[in-house]
Amino acid sequence: MNKKQSPPVTGTILYDNQDCSAQEHLLNPELKDIMRQAMREERNYLMEHECKKILEGIGVTTTGYLVAESSDEAVMMSNDIGYPVVLKIVSPDVVHKTDAGGVRLNLTNDDQVRAAYREIIDRFKDKRINGIAVQQMAKPGQEAIIGVTRDPVFGPMIMFGLGGIFVEVLKDVSFRILPITERDAAEMIEEIKGYAVLKGARGQAVDIAAVKNLLLQVSRLVIENPEIAELDLNPLFLYPEGYSAVDARMFISEPPRLDSITKRKNTDLRDFFYPASIAVLGASDVKGKLGYNVFWNLTNHNFTGRLYPINPGRDSVLGVKAYKSIIDVPEAIDLAIVVVPAKGVVQAIEECCSKDVRFIVVITAGFAETGEEGKIAQNRIESIMHEKGCRILGPNCAGVVNTLHNMVQSIGLLDDLEKGNVGMIAQAGVYASGILTGLRKVQNFGIVATIGNKMDISETDILEYLTDDDQIKVVAMYMEDVRSGKRFVDVASRATVKKPVIVLKAGRTEAGKKAVSSHTASLAGNDQVNSAAFRQSGVIRARDNEHLFGLIRAFSKQPLPKGDGTMVITYTGSLGVAATDTLYAYNMRLALLEPEIKNQIKAILPDFAMISNPIDCSFSMSPDQVRKLIELGRESNDVHSILVVLQGEMLGDFVEAMKDIDYKGKPVVCCVACKEFMIDDVMKMEKAGIPVYSTAEMAAEILSDMYYYNLRKQNRIAESITLHLRENTLTINRKPVHLRMIEKTDVDLWTDFVKSCSDKSLRARFHSPFHPTPEKARRFCNLNPEDEIAIVAEMHDERRRSFIGIARLNKSRHNEDEAEFSVIISDSWQKNNLGRLLSVKCIDVARQRGFKAIRVKADPENTAAIKIVKNLDFHTDYQQGQMLSMSLQLSA
Ligand code: ADP
Ligand code: MG
Repeated sequence: MNKKQSPPVTGTILYDNQDCSAQEHLLNPELKDIMRQAMREERNYLMEHECKKILEGIGVTTTGYLVAESSDEAVMMSNDIGYPVVLKIVSPDVVHKTDAGGVRLNLTNDDQVRAAYREIIDRFKDKRINGIAVQQMAKPGQEAIIGVTRDPVFGPMIMFGLGGIFVEVLKDVSFRILPITERDAAEMIEEIKGYAVLKGARGQAVDIAAVKNLLLQVSRLVIENPEIAELDLNPLFLYPEGYSAVDARMFISEPPRLDSITKRKNTDLRDFFYPASIAVLGASDVKGKLGYNVFWNLTNHNFTGRLYPINPGRDSVLGVKAYKSIIDVPEAIDLAIVVVPAKGVVQAIEECCSKDVRFIVVITAGFAETGEEGKIAQNRIESIMHEKGCRILGPNCAGVVNTLHNMVQSIGLLDDLEKGNVGMIAQAGVYASGILTGLRKVQNFGIVATIGNKMDISETDILEYLTDDDQIKVVAMYMEDVRSGKRFVDVASRATVKKPVIVLKAGRTEAGKKAVSSHTASLAGNDQVNSAAFRQSGVIRARDNEHLFGLIRAFSKQPLPKGDGTMVITYTGSLGVAATDTLYAYNMRLALLEPEIKNQIKAILPDFAMISNPIDCSFSMSPDQVRKLIELGRESNDVHSILVVLQGEMLGDFVEAMKDIDYKGKPVVCCVACKEFMIDDVMKMEKAGIPVYSTAEMAAEILSDMYYYNLRKQNRIAESITLHLRENTLTINRKPVHLRMIEKTDVDLWTDFVKSCSDKSLRARFHSPFHPTPEKARRFCNLNPEDEIAIVAEMHDERRRSFIGIARLNKSRHNEDEAEFSVIISDSWQKNNLGRLLSVKCIDVARQRGFKAIRVKADPENTAAIKIVKNLDFHTDYQQGQMLSMSLQLSA
């Protein structure tokens, strides 16, 4: 492990001073006291003027919070504000003011104010009246709503939508879990159906930046003041410039204990999934018993670690020496599986704990899921667990499968399973038995964990583990209820930047519905909140099992599309149309084929065929034709994925033609109508790594899911690097220089930069002569940040911007764990220490991206570069011809 800090950069480069002082709280003591006062009065409802005072205090624009105690005072205030004005009842007893007749709008003179004042006082004479609010009459604007509510699973949530009196009818709202980021705020606004209206579809656009900022302010306010239980800004008038909060109400209460939504225990589950030794309490020789199935699975899948059947009545089980109690086993045990009858479970767990077993899988059912008595037994297990510090999966689970470790604990007898790259977490036993048996013909799994009653180890714990298991490329989850929602979102957000997480969420119950008084809370239905949580964390939500396994097959077998252009090859026009419609419906498109590629296609197809995408081969489609079309299509710059509609009758021949094509990193999926009747060939195609769907719609939709997953992932990676570079404004020769990632729009800057470099510099960087062309410029500015990053040093002159250096950091083609980097500095800016600075940045970013090593390849004559990296502790690994290969280890 190299823990050395990068040495400070010296020379003419200076970092601009960063002010990193801790942020102050939004609410000063006076504002905070408004809430405290309400609590002292045992009020949980903050009146409009109180909310608005708090909001104004943090910089939110409202219609004001003045309260008059006499009609004279109301008139004076109205004159100060300027007509027209609005009068409203101020009473802790009145929540919905209009419904109660407590709002008088558009008052234009002193007489009207006096009359309205008297009317309101008269109307509410039975209620507590604090006074009458006098506020400016806001000019009409687009009515929106921003609200906050507390969700029992996810904690505080924020809502945005089109508001006013119809908010509950239109339900055009979006949710996010707090706190939100800038991008969350932007996505919330873009997500509502009325977004086009906000952007000015009919009339003027509203100030979206101001709304975004307001969402962020509200987020911060609620996070800093967790006693805020509900908040409604309804309506909020949105204007072309700015906005005005016309009404506000807030409910406060003791913040809930957060551990129910953030709870975590910090245990590395590696040994749980890869144990060296397993004891099975309740292992049995009697066919039909679960204890038989579990032990049979372990022995028949050739578990290579030590196995200890525990059974007081047997000397051996399935030929393996048995023990009366786990205590009698002479060696240490990593994992115990408990399949004894329910009444013996507590004792079994106690014995496992006294044997210092850290992980226990409890398969036995009959606990919290069965009623009061079961709950009491489960509570006892829980207290033993807390006392002894072990971790428990279940009870009432169906075991864990890890084909990568030849470990099959399933309660259903399973035939041979092959190793796969999918991790599955399921709140239902069938995923580790029944479904697996059938699926193994088309899909292999790595780890399958069923979680049962999830008394301890939860779906989130396992997701966290699978995120870091490099052998798992895709995570799928079947969930009935989400627990520790906030932690789930945090863990899933991290997971989805590394690998796709696909969730099927069943049981969309209304159990979480509560009696509510705010608009926001009434709109926060359970499923809407789940969807928001999934969207926020980048989880792909499957509709049903077919969609789930359709997604799993594509994500686990195929690379991700790097663009939205798709080539469709079909033998029938109608399915070509279906694919096309679905592609566009899911924001994908047909790729535009280059003329030279079209010409070559013409030669392959019959004379009468139309040469356009979709490529319709007609019923004369042959395997050889399809292979040639794919080989042409993959060369197109606009083709990023391929969808082939195949004839089922001759599917076997197509498998042969398609399985060995080099797709050059572009994904391919098939549609075979009525595929269930040609299942043998479908299985061959699937085993060859090409997913087959029975509808073109499903095939197209899944390509879209893959593309948009990848797009989000690349954006997230880019954002994290940008964040990393943000503090890097520096000064070279008294001119400001910014470090940032290269962007699509940098083609001209890049071209000018390359032109400004001498042949010698270019040769040192590219190891051969190099000339900028538009095609190269496009390629160099259009990078997939997961694989390739370019950091530019951009100088801001009085008149123009220009690049003075570029560093490239690529994932090594030979070793996923290693990054390669190279740096080029414009000739006139060399010897300013910039090369060293960019090298240090590359090392930082490589470390942040999780690479284990970083390498540079340099010409031995490029002494400047060699000197820099030697100073940064790189060591020479080998010299190959005119190339010195040097590397630095970033982690053990
Ligand atoms: P409540 O929601 O308690 O009934 P509001 O304060 O939201 O009371 O007032 C009801 C409606 O009156 C608002 O939805 C808005 O259309 C209008 N309104 C209230 N205050 C103002 C104001 N200051 N300027 C313009 N319109 C207002
Ligand atoms: Mg209102």
